[in-house]
Amino acid sequence: MSVIDYPKDTIVTFSEEEKLFRETVREFCQKYIAPKWVEIDEAADKEPMNIPIDTIKKMGEQGLFCIPCSEEYGGQGGTYTMATIAIEEIAYADPSVALAVYALLNTGWPFALELFGKEEVCQEIIPEVAKGDAFFGIASTEPQGGSDVAGLRTTAVKKGDVYVFNGEKAYISGVGEVQKLSWGGGWFTLARTGEPGHRGLSAFALLARKNGELKPGWNPTLYEDIGRHGLTTGGFILEDFELEKDYLIGEENKGFYYVMESFNLARIVVSAATIGAARWLLEQAVQWFKDRKLFGGKSIASFQGVSFRFAELYARWEAAKYFVYRASRLADKIYIEKDPAYKPKDLNVPVALAKNYGPETCVDLAEEVMKWYGAYAYTKEAPIFRAWLGPFSYVIGAEGAQNIMKYIIARDIIGRDYVSQ
Ligand SMILES: Cc1cc2nc3c(=O)[nH]c(=O)nc-3n(C[C@H](O)[C@H](O)[C@H](O)COP(=O)(O)OP(=O)(O)OC[C@H]3O[C@@H](n4cnc5c(N)ncnc54)[C@H](O)[C@@H]3O)c2cc1C
Repeated sequence: MSVIDYPKDTIVTFSEEEKLFRETVREFCQKYIAPKWVEIDEAADKEPMNIPIDTIKKMGEQGLFCIPCSEEYGGQGGTYTMATIAIEEIAYADPSVALAVYALLNTGWPFALELFGKEEVCQEIIPEVAKGDAFFGIASTEPQGGSDVAGLRTTAVKKGDVYVFNGEKAYISGVGEVQKLSWGGGWFTLARTGEPGHRGLSAFALLARKNGELKPGWNPTLYEDIGRHGLTTGGFILEDFELEKDYLIGEENKGFYYVMESFNLARIVVSAATIGAARWLLEQAVQWFKDRKLFGGKSIASFQGVSFRFAELYARWEAAKYFVYRASRLADKIYIEKDPAYKPKDLNVPVALAKNYGPETCVDLAEEVMKWYGAYAYTKEAPIFRAWLGPFSYVIGAEGAQNIMKYIIARDIIGRDYVSQ
Protein backbone atom coordinates (compact mmCIF):
# COMPACT_ATOMS: atom_id res chain seq x y z
CA MET A 1 0.00 0.00 0.00
CA SER A 2 1.23 3.39 -0.95
CA VAL A 3 2.19 5.62 1.98
CA ILE A 4 2.10 8.75 -0.15
CA ASP A 5 -1.10 9.00 -2.15
CA TYR A 6 -0.51 9.99 -5.72
CA PRO A 7 -1.79 11.69 -7.81
CA LYS A 8 -3.92 13.75 -5.44
CA ASP A 9 -2.55 16.91 -6.84
CA THR A 10 -3.91 20.39 -7.23
CA ILE A 11 -1.06 21.97 -9.19
CA VAL A 12 -0.65 19.36 -11.89
CA THR A 13 -3.97 17.88 -12.91
CA PHE A 14 -4.39 14.70 -14.88
CA SER A 15 -7.27 13.62 -17.12
CA GLU A 16 -9.29 10.51 -16.25
CA GLU A 17 -7.53 8.72 -19.12
CA GLU A 18 -4.12 9.66 -17.72
CA LYS A 19 -5.08 8.52 -14.22
CA LEU A 20 -6.23 5.19 -15.57
CA PHE A 21 -3.04 4.89 -17.61
CA ARG A 22 -0.96 5.55 -14.48
CA GLU A 23 -2.89 2.90 -12.55
CA THR A 24 -2.35 0.33 -15.31
CA VAL A 25 1.37 1.06 -15.57
CA ARG A 26 1.77 1.06 -11.79
CA GLU A 27 0.01 -2.27 -11.47
CA PHE A 28 2.31 -3.79 -14.11
CA CYS A 29 5.45 -2.30 -12.54
CA GLN A 30 4.53 -3.32 -9.02
CA LYS A 31 3.89 -6.87 -10.23
CA TYR A 32 6.85 -7.43 -12.54
CA ILE A 33 9.52 -4.88 -11.55
CA ALA A 34 9.22 -3.95 -7.85
CA PRO A 35 9.81 -7.51 -6.55
CA LYS A 36 12.92 -7.93 -8.74
CA TRP A 37 14.72 -4.60 -8.85
CA VAL A 38 17.26 -5.35 -6.10
CA GLU A 39 18.02 -8.77 -7.59
CA ILE A 40 18.52 -7.17 -11.03
CA ASP A 41 20.82 -4.48 -9.58
CA GLU A 42 22.87 -7.06 -7.67
CA ALA A 43 23.21 -9.54 -10.53
CA ALA A 44 24.30 -6.88 -13.01
CA ASP A 45 26.77 -5.47 -10.48
CA LYS A 46 28.52 -8.86 -10.42
CA GLU A 47 28.46 -9.20 -14.20
CA PRO A 48 27.45 -6.21 -16.36
CA MET A 49 26.13 -8.44 -19.14
CA ASN A 50 23.43 -9.80 -16.78
CA ILE A 51 20.90 -7.74 -18.70
CA PRO A 52 17.27 -8.31 -17.57
CA ILE A 53 16.09 -9.29 -21.05
CA ASP A 54 12.89 -11.05 -19.86
CA THR A 55 11.77 -7.92 -18.01
CA ILE A 56 12.64 -5.71 -20.99
CA LYS A 57 10.58 -7.99 -23.27
CA LYS A 58 7.64 -7.87 -20.84
CA MET A 59 7.87 -4.08 -20.71
CA GLY A 60 7.82 -4.02 -24.51
CA GLU A 61 4.71 -6.21 -24.58
CA GLN A 62 3.10 -3.85 -22.07
CA GLY A 63 3.77 -0.92 -24.43
CA LEU A 64 6.20 0.94 -22.16
CA PHE A 65 8.66 1.93 -24.91
CA CYS A 66 8.19 4.47 -27.70
CA ILE A 67 4.98 5.77 -26.11
CA PRO A 68 4.77 9.02 -28.13
CA CYS A 69 5.92 7.38 -31.40
CA SER A 70 3.36 6.83 -34.17
CA GLU A 71 1.45 3.59 -34.29
CA GLU A 72 2.55 3.13 -37.91
CA TYR A 73 6.09 2.70 -36.54
CA GLY A 74 4.96 0.32 -33.82
CA GLY A 75 4.85 3.08 -31.18
CA GLN A 76 1.92 3.64 -28.85
CA GLY A 77 0.64 6.85 -30.49
CA GLY A 78 0.45 8.36 -27.00
CA THR A 79 1.37 11.75 -25.58
CA TYR A 80 4.62 12.90 -24.02
CA THR A 81 2.78 13.28 -20.73
CA MET A 82 1.82 9.60 -20.88
CA ALA A 83 5.46 8.72 -21.45
CA THR A 84 6.39 10.88 -18.46
CA ILE A 85 3.82 9.13 -16.26
CA ALA A 86 5.12 5.71 -17.36
CA ILE A 87 8.75 6.56 -16.65
CA GLU A 88 7.87 7.95 -13.23
CA GLU A 89 6.05 4.73 -12.35
CA ILE A 90 8.88 2.50 -13.62
CA ALA A 91 11.37 4.40 -11.43
CA TYR A 92 9.01 4.18 -8.46
CA ALA A 93 9.13 0.38 -8.90
CA ASP A 94 12.90 0.33 -9.62
CA PRO A 95 14.45 3.30 -7.79
CA SER A 96 17.93 2.30 -8.98
CA VAL A 97 16.36 3.83 -12.13
CA ALA A 98 18.06 1.33 -14.48
CA LEU A 99 14.83 0.14 -16.07
CA ALA A 100 13.38 3.64 -16.13
CA VAL A 101 16.51 4.86 -17.92
CA TYR A 102 16.25 1.96 -20.37
CA ALA A 103 12.63 2.96 -21.04
CA LEU A 104 13.24 6.71 -21.21
CA LEU A 105 16.11 6.40 -23.68
CA ASN A 106 13.95 4.11 -25.78
CA THR A 107 11.23 6.72 -25.70
CA GLY A 108 13.01 10.04 -26.20
CA TRP A 109 15.48 8.99 -28.90
CA PRO A 110 13.15 6.91 -31.13
CA PHE A 111 10.76 9.87 -30.92
CA ALA A 112 13.59 12.19 -31.97
CA LEU A 113 14.36 9.82 -34.86
CA GLU A 114 10.73 10.05 -35.93
CA LEU A 115 10.90 13.86 -35.81
CA PHE A 116 14.02 14.21 -37.95
CA GLY A 117 14.88 10.86 -39.60
CA LYS A 118 13.88 9.17 -42.84
CA GLU A 119 10.70 7.13 -42.97
CA GLU A 120 12.40 3.85 -44.00
CA VAL A 121 14.89 4.15 -41.14
CA CYS A 122 12.07 4.75 -38.65
CA GLN A 123 10.20 1.75 -40.12
CA GLU A 124 13.28 -0.38 -39.60
CA ILE A 125 14.27 0.67 -36.07
CA ILE A 126 11.27 1.88 -34.06
CA PRO A 127 9.13 -1.30 -34.23
CA GLU A 128 12.06 -3.38 -32.91
CA VAL A 129 12.67 -0.91 -30.07
CA ALA A 130 8.96 -0.82 -29.18
CA LYS A 131 8.89 -4.63 -28.87
CA GLY A 132 11.95 -4.67 -26.60
CA ASP A 133 14.14 -6.41 -29.19
CA ALA A 134 16.40 -3.43 -29.89
CA PHE A 135 17.94 -0.51 -28.01
CA PHE A 136 18.08 3.02 -29.43
CA GLY A 137 19.70 5.69 -27.25
CA ILE A 138 22.05 8.65 -27.63
CA ALA A 139 25.80 8.60 -28.23
CA SER A 140 27.21 12.09 -28.18
CA THR A 141 29.80 12.04 -25.36
CA GLU A 142 33.47 11.55 -26.22
CA PRO A 143 36.44 10.96 -23.91
CA GLN A 144 37.67 14.57 -24.10
CA GLY A 145 34.45 15.94 -22.49
CA GLY A 146 30.69 15.60 -22.89
CA SER A 147 29.53 19.15 -22.19
CA ASP A 148 31.35 20.61 -25.19
CA VAL A 149 29.18 18.93 -27.81
CA ALA A 150 30.26 21.39 -30.51
CA GLY A 151 33.88 20.29 -30.00
CA LEU A 152 33.38 16.60 -30.66
CA ARG A 153 35.95 14.87 -32.85
CA THR A 154 34.48 11.70 -34.35
CA THR A 155 34.46 12.11 -38.14
CA ALA A 156 32.11 10.75 -40.81
CA VAL A 157 33.43 11.02 -44.35
CA LYS A 158 31.10 10.37 -47.27
CA LYS A 159 32.44 7.80 -49.75
CA GLY A 160 29.92 6.86 -52.43
CA ASP A 161 26.81 5.47 -50.75
CA VAL A 162 28.30 5.23 -47.26
CA TYR A 163 29.72 7.41 -44.51
CA VAL A 164 32.97 6.13 -43.01
CA PHE A 165 33.29 6.83 -39.27
CA ASN A 166 36.44 7.12 -37.18
CA GLY A 167 36.56 8.19 -33.54
CA GLU A 168 35.50 7.24 -30.05
CA LYS A 169 32.34 7.61 -27.95
CA ALA A 170 32.49 7.24 -24.16
CA TYR A 171 30.07 6.80 -21.23
CA ILE A 172 27.29 5.60 -23.48
CA SER A 173 24.24 3.80 -22.08
CA GLY A 174 23.15 0.62 -23.81
CA VAL A 175 26.47 -0.74 -25.11
CA GLY A 176 25.69 -4.16 -23.58
CA GLU A 177 21.99 -4.13 -24.52
CA VAL A 178 22.81 -3.53 -28.20
CA GLN A 179 24.94 -6.68 -28.09
CA LYS A 180 22.48 -8.81 -26.11
CA LEU A 181 18.99 -7.96 -27.36
CA SER A 182 17.81 -10.24 -30.17
CA TRP A 183 17.73 -7.59 -32.92
CA GLY A 184 20.47 -5.22 -31.68
CA GLY A 185 20.26 -1.46 -32.10
CA GLY A 186 22.39 1.63 -31.77
CA TRP A 187 22.23 5.36 -31.15
CA PHE A 188 21.24 8.77 -32.35
CA THR A 189 24.77 10.05 -32.74
CA LEU A 190 26.76 13.04 -33.92
CA ALA A 191 29.88 13.10 -36.08
CA ARG A 192 31.85 15.78 -37.83
CA THR A 193 31.11 16.09 -41.53
CA GLY A 194 32.13 19.71 -41.99
CA GLU A 195 33.85 22.74 -40.48
CA PRO A 196 34.99 22.95 -36.81
CA GLY A 197 32.30 23.95 -34.32
CA HIS A 198 28.61 23.16 -34.12
CA ARG A 199 27.87 23.92 -37.79
CA GLY A 200 30.03 21.01 -38.96
CA LEU A 201 28.17 18.23 -37.16
CA SER A 202 25.69 15.77 -38.66
CA ALA A 203 23.32 13.39 -36.90
CA PHE A 204 23.07 9.69 -37.75
CA ALA A 205 21.13 6.63 -36.67
CA LEU A 206 24.23 4.58 -35.98
CA LEU A 207 23.24 0.91 -35.84
CA ALA A 208 26.04 -1.16 -34.34
CA ARG A 209 24.04 -4.38 -34.66
CA LYS A 210 20.94 -5.22 -36.68
CA ASN A 211 19.04 -8.43 -37.33
CA GLY A 212 21.35 -10.03 -34.76
CA GLU A 213 24.51 -9.19 -36.76
CA LEU A 214 27.30 -6.99 -35.43
CA LYS A 215 28.66 -4.49 -37.94
CA PRO A 216 32.42 -4.44 -38.53
CA GLY A 217 34.43 -1.47 -37.25
CA TRP A 218 32.42 -1.10 -34.02
CA ASN A 219 34.68 -1.98 -31.06
CA PRO A 220 32.86 -1.83 -27.72
CA THR A 221 34.01 -1.84 -24.13
CA LEU A 222 31.94 -1.98 -20.90
CA TYR A 223 32.48 0.04 -17.73
CA GLU A 224 32.03 -1.06 -14.12
CA ASP A 225 29.44 1.46 -12.93
CA ILE A 226 28.89 2.36 -9.29
CA GLY A 227 25.09 2.27 -9.64
CA ARG A 228 21.98 1.61 -11.81
CA HIS A 229 23.57 -1.69 -12.75
CA GLY A 230 20.53 -3.06 -14.60
CA LEU A 231 21.54 -0.91 -17.58
CA THR A 232 25.05 -1.05 -19.03
CA THR A 233 27.31 1.91 -19.74
CA GLY A 234 30.29 1.60 -22.05
CA GLY A 235 32.19 3.12 -24.88
CA PHE A 236 33.10 2.25 -28.43
CA ILE A 237 35.80 2.98 -30.95
CA LEU A 238 34.74 3.43 -34.55
CA GLU A 239 37.38 2.22 -36.96
CA ASP A 240 36.47 2.72 -40.60
CA PHE A 241 32.91 1.91 -39.55
CA GLU A 242 30.58 2.16 -42.57
CA LEU A 243 26.99 3.36 -42.47
CA GLU A 244 24.72 3.66 -45.51
CA LYS A 245 23.85 7.27 -46.32
CA ASP A 246 20.12 6.75 -45.57
CA TYR A 247 21.04 6.68 -41.89
CA LEU A 248 21.95 10.36 -42.01
CA ILE A 249 19.29 12.11 -39.91
CA GLY A 250 17.89 15.24 -41.56
CA GLU A 251 20.33 17.50 -43.42
CA GLU A 252 24.10 17.28 -43.32
CA ASN A 253 25.76 19.68 -40.84
CA LYS A 254 22.49 20.41 -39.02
CA GLY A 255 22.91 17.60 -36.49
CA PHE A 256 23.81 19.83 -33.56
CA TYR A 257 20.40 21.52 -33.73
CA TYR A 258 18.50 18.20 -33.91
CA VAL A 259 20.40 16.83 -30.92
CA MET A 260 19.92 19.95 -28.80
CA GLU A 261 16.19 19.92 -29.49
CA SER A 262 15.98 16.20 -28.75
CA PHE A 263 17.92 16.56 -25.48
CA ASN A 264 15.02 18.67 -24.24
CA LEU A 265 12.66 15.76 -24.87
CA ALA A 266 14.94 13.20 -23.23
CA ARG A 267 15.57 15.41 -20.20
CA ILE A 268 11.85 15.57 -19.36
CA VAL A 269 11.69 11.81 -18.91
CA VAL A 270 15.06 11.77 -17.13
CA SER A 271 13.59 14.11 -14.55
CA ALA A 272 10.43 11.97 -14.38
CA ALA A 273 12.59 8.98 -13.40
CA THR A 274 14.11 10.92 -10.53
CA ILE A 275 10.75 12.06 -9.11
CA GLY A 276 9.53 8.44 -9.28
CA ALA A 277 12.58 7.23 -7.34
CA ALA A 278 12.14 10.14 -4.91
CA ARG A 279 8.53 9.07 -4.23
CA TRP A 280 9.80 5.63 -3.28
CA LEU A 281 12.39 7.23 -0.99
CA LEU A 282 9.78 9.43 0.69
CA GLU A 283 7.68 6.35 1.35
CA GLN A 284 10.62 4.49 2.87
CA ALA A 285 11.21 7.48 5.14
CA VAL A 286 7.58 7.67 6.32
CA GLN A 287 7.55 3.94 7.04
CA TRP A 288 10.85 4.20 8.91
CA PHE A 289 9.53 7.09 11.02
CA LYS A 290 6.62 4.86 12.03
CA ASP A 291 8.90 1.97 12.96
CA ARG A 292 12.01 3.55 14.45
CA LYS A 293 11.47 4.49 18.10
CA LEU A 294 14.11 6.01 20.40
CA PHE A 295 14.31 7.89 23.72
CA GLY A 296 11.44 6.21 25.49
CA GLY A 297 9.49 5.03 22.46
CA LYS A 298 9.39 8.27 20.47
CA SER A 299 9.40 8.16 16.68
CA ILE A 300 12.53 9.78 15.31
CA ALA A 301 10.13 12.06 13.38
CA SER A 302 9.19 13.62 16.73
CA PHE A 303 12.58 15.36 16.59
CA GLN A 304 12.26 18.48 14.51
CA GLY A 305 15.79 18.07 13.19
CA VAL A 306 14.37 15.07 11.36
CA SER A 307 10.77 16.04 10.51
CA PHE A 308 11.59 19.58 9.34
CA ARG A 309 14.24 18.23 7.00
CA PHE A 310 11.66 15.76 5.70
CA ALA A 311 9.23 18.66 5.14
CA GLU A 312 11.86 20.63 3.19
CA LEU A 313 12.62 17.69 0.93
CA TYR A 314 8.93 16.90 0.47
CA ALA A 315 8.43 20.50 -0.71
CA ARG A 316 11.29 20.15 -3.20
CA TRP A 317 9.75 16.94 -4.51
CA GLU A 318 6.39 18.67 -5.06
CA ALA A 319 8.18 21.49 -6.91
CA ALA A 320 10.16 19.00 -9.01
CA LYS A 321 6.91 17.24 -10.03
CA TYR A 322 5.52 20.55 -11.16
CA PHE A 323 8.61 21.30 -13.28
CA VAL A 324 8.49 17.83 -14.85
CA TYR A 325 4.82 17.83 -15.80
CA ARG A 326 4.80 21.45 -16.91
CA ALA A 327 7.58 20.50 -19.35
CA SER A 328 5.74 17.38 -20.55
CA ARG A 329 2.54 19.39 -21.17
CA LEU A 330 4.57 21.90 -23.19
CA ALA A 331 6.14 19.07 -25.19
CA ASP A 332 2.63 17.83 -26.00
CA LYS A 333 1.62 21.27 -27.24
CA ILE A 334 4.68 21.47 -29.50
CA TYR A 335 5.06 17.94 -30.79
CA ILE A 336 1.72 16.15 -30.36
CA GLU A 337 -0.89 18.90 -30.76
CA LYS A 338 1.46 20.91 -33.01
CA ASP A 339 0.03 24.13 -31.60
CA PRO A 340 1.65 26.97 -33.62
CA ALA A 341 1.70 29.23 -30.56
CA TYR A 342 4.56 27.13 -29.12
CA LYS A 343 8.08 26.58 -30.49
CA PRO A 344 10.68 23.93 -29.55
CA LYS A 345 12.88 26.55 -27.86
CA ASP A 346 10.02 27.31 -25.42
CA LEU A 347 11.05 24.04 -23.77
CA ASN A 348 14.61 25.16 -22.96
CA VAL A 349 14.01 26.77 -19.57
CA PRO A 350 11.17 24.52 -18.33
CA VAL A 351 13.23 21.44 -19.16
CA ALA A 352 16.46 22.78 -17.67
CA LEU A 353 14.55 23.56 -14.45
CA ALA A 354 13.17 20.02 -14.33
CA LYS A 355 16.54 18.39 -15.06
CA ASN A 356 18.30 20.60 -12.57
CA TYR A 357 15.76 20.14 -9.80
CA GLY A 358 14.55 16.52 -10.09
CA PRO A 359 17.86 14.64 -9.85
CA GLU A 360 19.28 16.87 -7.09
CA THR A 361 16.13 16.55 -4.99
CA CYS A 362 16.20 12.77 -5.38
CA VAL A 363 19.88 12.44 -4.46
CA ASP A 364 19.64 14.83 -1.49
CA LEU A 365 16.62 12.90 -0.29
CA ALA A 366 18.40 9.55 -0.64
CA GLU A 367 21.34 10.82 1.41
CA GLU A 368 18.99 12.07 4.10
CA VAL A 369 16.98 8.83 4.22
CA MET A 370 20.25 6.95 4.65
CA LYS A 371 21.06 9.13 7.65
CA TRP A 372 17.58 8.55 9.10
CA TYR A 373 18.11 4.81 8.69
CA GLY A 374 21.33 5.11 10.69
CA ALA A 375 23.97 2.38 10.49
CA TYR A 376 21.54 -0.05 8.84
CA ALA A 377 21.72 2.13 5.70
CA TYR A 378 25.42 1.31 5.44
CA THR A 379 24.70 -2.38 4.90
CA LYS A 380 23.73 -3.84 1.55
CA GLU A 381 20.60 -5.30 3.14
CA ALA A 382 19.05 -1.82 3.17
CA PRO A 383 18.51 -0.94 -0.50
CA ILE A 384 18.50 2.86 -0.11
CA PHE A 385 22.04 3.23 -1.46
CA ARG A 386 20.84 1.79 -4.77
CA ALA A 387 18.28 4.62 -5.06
CA TRP A 388 21.09 7.05 -4.32
CA LEU A 389 23.77 5.85 -6.73
CA GLY A 390 21.41 5.37 -9.70
CA PRO A 391 19.85 8.86 -9.72
CA PHE A 392 23.31 10.31 -8.93
CA SER A 393 24.24 9.54 -12.55
CA TYR A 394 21.95 12.44 -13.47
CA VAL A 395 23.57 14.81 -10.99
CA ILE A 396 26.99 13.92 -12.38
CA GLY A 397 25.92 14.65 -15.88
CA ALA A 398 24.06 11.95 -17.82
CA GLU A 399 21.85 13.74 -20.41
CA GLY A 400 23.65 17.00 -19.60
CA ALA A 401 25.64 18.28 -16.63
CA GLN A 402 23.85 20.31 -13.96
CA ASN A 403 25.92 23.42 -14.68
CA ILE A 404 24.86 23.20 -18.31
CA MET A 405 21.21 23.30 -17.13
CA LYS A 406 22.00 26.44 -15.15
CA TYR A 407 23.75 27.90 -18.19
CA ILE A 408 20.64 27.27 -20.34
CA ILE A 409 18.38 28.96 -17.77
CA ALA A 410 20.70 31.96 -17.41
CA ARG A 411 21.30 32.23 -21.17
CA ASP A 412 17.61 32.20 -22.08
CA ILE A 413 16.44 34.47 -19.25
CA ILE A 414 19.28 37.01 -19.18
CA GLY A 415 20.17 36.81 -22.87
CA ARG A 416 22.81 35.02 -24.94
CA ASP A 417 24.86 38.24 -25.35
CA TYR A 418 25.40 38.54 -21.61
CA VAL A 419 26.04 34.93 -20.57
CA SER A 420 29.10 33.12 -21.85
CA GLN A 421 29.58 29.38 -21.69
C1 LIG B 1 25.81 6.70 -15.99
C2 LIG B 1 26.02 7.61 -17.16
C3 LIG B 1 25.42 7.32 -18.36
C4 LIG B 1 25.63 8.14 -19.48
N1 LIG B 1 25.03 7.82 -20.66
C5 LIG B 1 25.28 8.58 -21.76
C6 LIG B 1 24.70 8.24 -23.03
O1 LIG B 1 23.93 7.31 -23.12
N2 LIG B 1 25.06 8.97 -24.09
C7 LIG B 1 25.90 10.02 -24.02
O2 LIG B 1 26.18 10.64 -25.04
N3 LIG B 1 26.48 10.39 -22.83
C8 LIG B 1 26.16 9.69 -21.72
N4 LIG B 1 26.73 10.02 -20.50
C9 LIG B 1 27.70 11.10 -20.45
C10 LIG B 1 27.08 12.43 -20.07
O3 LIG B 1 26.33 12.96 -21.12
C11 LIG B 1 28.23 13.34 -19.66
O4 LIG B 1 28.65 12.90 -18.39
C12 LIG B 1 27.88 14.82 -19.61
O5 LIG B 1 27.56 15.32 -20.87
C13 LIG B 1 29.04 15.64 -19.02
O6 LIG B 1 30.21 15.36 -19.73
P1 LIG B 1 31.51 14.85 -18.94
O7 LIG B 1 31.12 13.76 -18.02
O8 LIG B 1 32.55 14.56 -19.97
O9 LIG B 1 31.94 16.09 -18.06
P2 LIG B 1 32.59 17.44 -18.58
O10 LIG B 1 31.88 17.94 -19.77
O11 LIG B 1 34.06 17.24 -18.68
O12 LIG B 1 32.28 18.38 -17.37
C14 LIG B 1 32.94 18.21 -16.10
C15 LIG B 1 32.41 19.21 -15.11
O13 LIG B 1 32.61 20.52 -15.58
C16 LIG B 1 31.40 21.26 -15.56
N5 LIG B 1 31.32 22.09 -16.78
C17 LIG B 1 31.59 21.72 -18.05
N6 LIG B 1 31.37 22.73 -18.89
C18 LIG B 1 30.92 23.77 -18.14
C19 LIG B 1 30.51 25.09 -18.42
N7 LIG B 1 30.51 25.57 -19.67
N8 LIG B 1 30.10 25.86 -17.39
C20 LIG B 1 30.12 25.41 -16.11
N9 LIG B 1 30.50 24.17 -15.79
C21 LIG B 1 30.89 23.35 -16.78
C22 LIG B 1 30.28 20.22 -15.60
O14 LIG B 1 29.12 20.70 -14.95
C23 LIG B 1 30.92 19.07 -14.84
O15 LIG B 1 30.65 19.19 -13.48
C24 LIG B 1 26.49 9.26 -19.36
C25 LIG B 1 27.06 9.58 -18.13
C26 LIG B 1 26.84 8.78 -17.03
C27 LIG B 1 27.46 9.13 -15.73
